[in-house]
Amino acid sequence: MIAFADDVSGLSVSFEFFPPKSPDDDSFWRTIRRLETVGPEFVSVTYGAGGTTRDRTLATVRRIASETRLKPAAHLTCVGASRAEVDATILEFAAAGVRHILALRGDPPAGVGAKFTPHPDGYRNAADLVRGIRELGDFEVSVSAYPERHPDSVSIEEDLAFMADKAEHGASRAISQFFFHNAFFLRLRDRIAARGINIELVPGILPITSFARVSEFAAKCGAHVPPALARRFEGLDDDPDTRNLVAAMVAAEQVDQLRREGVTHFHFYTLNRADLVYAICRVLGLGVRAQAA
Ligand SMILES: Cc1cc2nc3c(=O)[nH]c(=O)nc-3n(C[C@H](O)[C@H](O)[C@H](O)COP(=O)(O)OP(=O)(O)OC[C@H]3O[C@@H](n4cnc5c(N)ncnc54)[C@H](O)[C@@H]3O)c2cc1C
Repeated sequence: MIAFADDVSGLSVSFEFFPPKSPDDDSFWRTIRRLETVGPEFVSVTYGAGGTTRDRTLATVRRIASETRLKPAAHLTCVGASRAEVDATILEFAAAGVRHILALRGDPPAGVGAKFTPHPDGYRNAADLVRGIRELGDFEVSVSAYPERHPDSVSIEEDLAFMADKAEHGASRAISQFFFHNAFFLRLRDRIAARGINIELVPGILPITSFARVSEFAAKCGAHVPPALARRFEGLDDDPDTRNLVAAMVAAEQVDQLRREGVTHFHFYTLNRADLVYAICRVLGLGVRAQAA
């Protein structure tokens, strides 16, 4: 049973988008405007694999900063680029009004699981990139976290060593890969606390717009999909209305359980769609005052 809390102070959300193909894509900006009413702490814009969306990411965060009340966070990877190229992008983000960067190593061109080799003149890894960003300006820096282990890592202990390095170099928040078993997230939170790593761990929540697509993502990044979850979506491929209701319920339940465990910030992977995320935020009690205003 979902606990409906009257007091939503202290509760915050953020939203992730990928940059639209065209900077003038009306449906993208309608999505942004709708989710703006919820009052997120920030909205982040991804950086396509190996920097393939660099210019579109930049154009999108620039427009968010100049035309909305939202605070943009730009994702940035260092794979395949020299330090000079990455630094030039950081300075362009700053000039576009960005004060928050999600610093990532990125996947090698051959894809997830292939061996990562740093660019000979580049940042060595995500922690090194965090240090570079902090040296270039007064940025807030977030990083990634993996409740079920990163595919490159041999153990959660190794992940924690990378996390400690990222925090020591100045990252203040770690946003998790999506997951469906809350126990994995809570275990990671406990381990971060036990090691005394000074970083806020924020759950990344992926509402299920298409079960087949989510299962594919999950297989690639090693996230477990509980059989009970699969059953809830079985036979709903051609029934989008019911599927959306079930998806909103599933995500609201996940968020509610985490809230009872003391989580106060939720990061939603929107896949550039407003409907499900907006509904879940309303279930959380967010967005009401903005609507009235
Ligand atoms: C919230 C979030 C947002 C993301 N956004 C983007 C995006 O916009 N664009 C994009 O291209 N990708 C994105 N990614 C994916 C990310 O780039 C990949 O997961 C990439 O493989 C690792 O980058 P990282 O910064 O997480 O790496 P790190 O934090 O540096 O490493 C992740 C883990 O991999 C292991 N590892 C890393 N390097 C080594 C090594 N040399 N040897 C052994 N083990 C190693 C460690 O266990 C480490 O904990 C995102 C991921 C998350 C969780």
